[in-house]
Amino acid sequence: MTAKNPQPGELDAIETASRDEISALQLQRLKWSLQHAYDNVPFHKAAFDAKGVHPSDLKTLADLAKFPFMTKIALRDHYPFGLFAVPRNKIARLHASSGTTGKSIVVGYTLKDIDNWANLVARSIRAAGGRAGDMLHNAYGYGMFTGGLGAHYGAERLGCTVIPMSGGQTEKQVQQIVDFQPQIIMVTPSYSLVIAEEFERQGITPDQISLKIGIFGAEPWGEGMRAEIERKLGIDAIDIYGLTEVMGPGVACECIESKDGPVIWEDHFYPEIINPETGEVVADGEDGELVFTSLTKEAFPVIRYRTRDLTRLLPPTSRAFRRMGKITGRSDDMLIIRGVNVFPTQVEEQILRDKRLSGNYQIQLSRDGHLDNVEVRCELQREAAAQLSPTDVALIAKELQHHIKTIIGITTKVSVLAPEAIPRTLTGKARRVIDERPKQL
Ligand code: ADP
Repeated sequence: MTAKNPQPGELDAIETASRDEISALQLQRLKWSLQHAYDNVPFHKAAFDAKGVHPSDLKTLADLAKFPFMTKIALRDHYPFGLFAVPRNKIARLHASSGTTGKSIVVGYTLKDIDNWANLVARSIRAAGGRAGDMLHNAYGYGMFTGGLGAHYGAERLGCTVIPMSGGQTEKQVQQIVDFQPQIIMVTPSYSLVIAEEFERQGITPDQISLKIGIFGAEPWGEGMRAEIERKLGIDAIDIYGLTEVMGPGVACECIESKDGPVIWEDHFYPEIINPETGEVVADGEDGELVFTSLTKEAFPVIRYRTRDLTRLLPPTSRAFRRMGKITGRSDDMLIIRGVNVFPTQVEEQILRDKRLSGNYQIQLSRDGHLDNVEVRCELQREAAAQLSPTDVALIAKELQHHIKTIIGITTKVSVLAPEAIPRTLTGKARRVIDERPKQL
């Protein structure tokens, strides 16, 4: 039932609307959202007043640049419910961020918000090639994390049969996929590799796996990782993006027919890219920090929310909405190693140039006197390991070290380990960086 191309009439009308129609809808919704935030959340009113702007000052979409930003600090300061725009008894559900960085933050949804969310995840799964009648194995964690329930409601909305597996219990995951024969899996990219390894261990080859489509998000992953996942599971790997503060998964999703970056569902979220240092809005195509304003959210409106995710806006292709480039990293993921700015995904890209290495890796940082020491720990693919001598392995390490030095510009110690030597995260996002450097005061 999965499909590579949408049939006429299958999409929501707005997905193929003209840019003028989209802008008109955005402007109308943006006016509502600013007024709603201003009238119902003291934080937003105070921020607007301090900047001398009023919702009625928004006459065009570009006027949004006059309004204040919102950062994660506001969410922490108003923990738990201080930024809700509706009374508590109208909140149907709470979620919290998984706390990859810092203290967790809490968000709320009205029933209408949950309904919109389900529709957008359904739209995302359809963009990924899923259709009503497909069976979907959901290995995103259920609970306060938005991944599990977000994917679940969207898959049900589309008309899929959902297997609410959640994360962990890898052998059982594989058993259920073998027994139930789902076409779609939703999971973090790093955990999909753990599942792929379990298939390998059981001697099940990609052509014997029922899965056709994987919808992966919640953490950065590059094209090398995509190729590896597609090869190991025999699927199309699609990128879905989202964050708790803005909604959860399904803020943007790639289309299977183009696989050219997640399409932002611009009828519900207005994106901007800013220069993270100056706060100026930059042109489409330029790199910077992604900022979102919610257009329809009732319980937890966000106005110019700084995601700290670094990417760029790209022109529409498969849908009428703009796309985002791959997230190169979060501004707070950035490592400064001996003065060089490095994102873990850059290291990942170099590792995956060598097909004999797997996508599981760790970057370990320590300090020796005043100097940062970096160890890149990566591991061999199972099938490669059997054929390599210790000299070959030493050569792989040497080559990788050389690539990292010449392309990223940092000196590292590279350790090429046995297959599956690096600890797996069984429930969600991979831990790529272990920073043992003493904190700078
Ligand atoms: P936390 O902030 O605790 O990690 P979330 O689960 O809300 O909580 O994580 C959202 C973040 O995950 C995004 O801001 C982004 O950094 C990352 N993320 C989500 N989807 C993707 C994706 N497809 N590609 C890269 N990063 C992603």
